[in-house]
Parts: sequence; structure tokens; C-alpha cells
Amino acid sequence: MAMAQNSPPTARAWLEVDLAAVRHNAAALGARAGVPLLVMVKANAYGVGATAVCRALGVPFAGRTEGAGQAAPWGVGIATLDEAEALRAAGCLGRIVCLQPLLAAELHRAVELKVTPSLHRADDIGHWRALTDAPYHLSIDTGMARAGVRWTTVSTLRNALQGAAPEGVFTHFHSADDSLDSRVEQDRRFAEARAALADVLPADVLVHADNSAGIVSRTAGSPGHLARPGIALYGGMFSAELGLRQVVHLRARIIDLRHVHDGESVSYGATWRASGTRRIATVAAGYADGYRRHLSNAGVVLIKGVRCPVVGRVTMDMTMVDVTGVECGTGDTATLIGGDGTDCLGTEAVAALGGLSPYELLVGLSLRVPVVYHEAGLPPFPLMSSPVSLPA
Ligand SMILES: *Cc1c(COP(=O)(O)O)cnc(C)c1O
Repeated sequence: MAMAQNSPPTARAWLEVDLAAVRHNAAALGARAGVPLLVMVKANAYGVGATAVCRALGVPFAGRTEGAGQAAPWGVGIATLDEAEALRAAGCLGRIVCLQPLLAAELHRAVELKVTPSLHRADDIGHWRALTDAPYHLSIDTGMARAGVRWTTVSTLRNALQGAAPEGVFTHFHSADDSLDSRVEQDRRFAEARAALADVLPADVLVHADNSAGIVSRTAGSPGHLARPGIALYGGMFSAELGLRQVVHLRARIIDLRHVHDGESVSYGATWRASGTRRIATVAAGYADGYRRHLSNAGVVLIKGVRCPVVGRVTMDMTMVDVTGVECGTGDTATLIGGDGTDCLGTEAVAALGGLSPYELLVGLSLRVPVVYHEAGLPPFPLMSSPVSLPA
């Protein structure tokens, strides 16, 4: 992934990342949660750029004094030790917690990288304590069935915990975004597991569970001591109350234009045909740039502030758009995701057009295009609640 400081004048396609919007979203989520944040920056901060996000949020970095420590998150969360290594190599001095289980053979590397692992097997807990006095967090599975010790069997860890108390204990929700009942049930299982270990957990153990949906769905703040937002920080989750902002803006230039006549087709498979004469622009971004093929005949693109439909299949490097009636020419900029003028194609809304997950759409955006970071931010673009529709 290449990087540039300002809008690259010659780029065919690029991703603009609004770091002020990330700061705004972190502040809104922190205020809602009412507890410090363990900011999730796994997968290169969902494709947005982990180092840039950590710096923007005030995570301490070597050789930096300005802004350091000021309202910094409690720590940052990652999924692989390579991600931690990239952050350490960039000078990150903040707490890094790995939320994904590590293999026993990886624990020594976690020590070297000063990574706080999540552990849930007695052998690993013993191994960790033999290697280091550094903290770890105990991972409890309350129904996600992905990682951690099952809530009904935590007592099997009693001996291990007695010899090596965790700094934190956490669980992860599977449906906090669409089922309040399931979250309530997982809250209950998590409390039951902690109660079963009450005499072997330190009194000041850090309890955490909420992901973005957990934070957004609770009005009285997040339970425990920390919350772990990911997607909402990066503008991938609409919340009417929180006023979260769009973070990513995928732009590409028009590189060709033509008229297509009645009945003629556009792109592979001839899945779209013109009714009457239409003017078609070719935009220099395709699925290799993260603009997914699912958006074929479904996506909407902003050109000169006008919503224009994607026609035909999205190809690897180019996407065709119907610009009939829109005054535009070669070299003009199209916005495929994000804001232009007063309109904004929110990440979640664009994902919905293609039947995609906003997580998956975000993570793919920095495959090839250069990333332009706006430290001071762009004009703020609020997220939209409604699906993207075309002008009549
Ligand atoms: C990814 C992840 C999060 C953040 O989830 P979002 O839905 O993106 O807010 C929190 N906790 C764990 C363990 C995760 O893996």
C-alpha cells in the first residue's frame, strides 16, 4: 500500500482517510461507553491504516511529544503478531492486546513484542507465567463458539489462575447488532463464569465485552472497565444517536467516455443494455481496488455531486457508470464511497447496495490504491440511515 500526503494529482484512484472523523467517532463511542477504549486496529485498522489511526488517537509513539497521552485509548487490539510487529516497528509504545488465541509456539514472540495475549488454556497460562510476569487477558466463550474457554467449564482453569492471575477477562458478542436478547444472554453467561472464578480472579481484574454494536446498543454505558470498538470507529456503522462520521472516501478518475446506443451492452457478460442512447463513463477503479464485483449493476457513484448508477459488471481495474445528462469529462473525479459536495455514500450504505458486509468492504479498500490521510479532516460527512437511491 503506497502512501501520499496530499491528493495525488496524477493518481487514477486513491483512498482518502479522514483522521479527524476517526477521532470524532472515538470520542463519541468513548462518551457512550463511559469507559476507556481498547481500540481495535486489527487487519490494518480495517484497511484504514493501523499506524495512522493509532497516531491520530494519541497512542504514544517513540520520539513524539505533541499530543502524546492526551485522551489516548487504554490500548489497541490486534489479531496477529505480525500486526503488532508492524506497530512496534513504527515506534508504537502503547499497550497492544492480541484478542485472537495464539499458538503455544508464538508466546515467546508475544513477550518480545510486548504484546498482551488472550489465553484460555491451562498449559498456555502456565507457559506464559514461566516466560514472563507480563499481563495477559483471560478469554471466555459465551456463545460465539470461536475462541476462549467455554463459560460452563471455567472452573477447570482454577489451578492455573491461582498461579497466574490475569490482568483482564473478556468475552465477545455474536449478535449485539441485531439481537438484544442474545446479548443479554451472553452478559448473563459472562457474569456466571466470572462468579465461578471470583476467588481466583484479582479484585481489580479488567472486565470487557462490548464491541461497536454492544456500545451503540446500550444507553447506560458499557459494563465493566473497557470497551472494544472496531467498525463504528471507521464509519461502518450507522447510529442515529451517536452522530458518527464517514471516514473513508474512495475516489477514481474518469479515464474514458463513450455513447452507447439502444440495445448495446456494457462490460463482461453483457449484463446491461442501453435503452436509448446513454453516455457511459469509465472510472479507473475496480475490484482490485476494493470496489467489489457485487456492486455490478447495483453500485451508485457520485460525479459532480450527482448520483450515477454503475452499469454492467465491475471489472478488475475499471467500472462503468451511466453519466447521461451529467456534465463531466476525462480526468474528472468520481467518488465511489464517501462524500462529494453535500452528498455522502456511507460505507454501510454502499455495502448494502452490493449485499456485502461493511467490514468486508472496508478491509478491501487499501489493496492497491494510494492512501491520502487528512490529519485535520475533511468537511464532516454524517453517515446516512437510508439506503442509497438514485434520482428519479
Ligand atoms: C473485531 C473485534 C472487536 C470489534 O468488533 P466491531 O464489531 O468491529 O466493533 C471487538 N472484540 C473482538 C474480540 C474482536 O475480534
